[in-house]
Amino acid sequence: MADRYFTESPIHDRRAVLGGPEAHHLIHVIRAKPGMEVTLFDGSGAEFPARVERVGRSEVELEVLERREVDRERRRQVVLATALPKGDRQRWLVEKAVELGILRIVPLQTERSVSLPVPKAMDRLRRTVIEASKQCGRNRLMEIAEPQTWPDFVEQTHEVPACRWLAHPHGTDQEMAEPGPSVPVFLAVGPEGGFTDEEVSRAVAVGWQLVNLGPRILRVETAAVVLAAKAPH
Ligand code: SAH
Repeated sequence: MADRYFTESPIHDRRAVLGGPEAHHLIHVIRAKPGMEVTLFDGSGAEFPARVERVGRSEVELEVLERREVDRERRRQVVLATALPKGDRQRWLVEKAVELGILRIVPLQTERSVSLPVPKAMDRLRRTVIEASKQCGRNRLMEIAEPQTWPDFVEQTHEVPACRWLAHPHGTDQEMAEPGPSVPVFLAVGPEGGFTDEEVSRAVAVGWQLVNLGPRILRVETAAVVLAAKAPH
């Protein structure tokens, strides 16, 4: 899965130009030379074997050799609404969510959330999505949605027929029922201070199931990863 590069501009013909950090990596770290073969992806779901034609100072021009539809997505749409931890743990969570095939992360603002990512931090997280996708072979980028309050998220997703799991240390640890194959899954993880009782009961009232992840209290990012791994595929 090595040597994958992401291009912001959709690939439509036999030529592609890489710029920005992707070109920087190819030019200065890999020291690419004309003739070298790499794989490009543009987030459309396909990947493109390509050959380096020209290495500029900050751009690399490539000849696109082929378009391959390679689907490494999960069968079902899984949306993860989560309070975000800080710094490195936030990036770790985003990286693992990409690897686990999450369709979209919704940063949650809850009663006890401490901070929400500022626009610059959101941009860094989107860069983390690209790096993780290069590494794990995803050809579609996980979306990082704009932050939402928990009541808004519950309200907005309420009409959609879906499976809704809220990680809660006081939830049941029963086997969860497997929903039909195309039913989407919504997952929710609270902040370090936990969801308030009111936030939990509001969700339960509209069909959220409380899921227990074991007798120990997990960090937000651990809970998110365990919940995502447990969710039906
Ligand atoms: N003191 C808080 C703990 C918060 S841990 C409380 O009692 O709720 C942060 C989030 O991770 C929680 O809101 C929950 O969504 C999830 N979580 C952590 N440990 C968990 C466990 N053992 N089972 C289910 N969810 C858990």
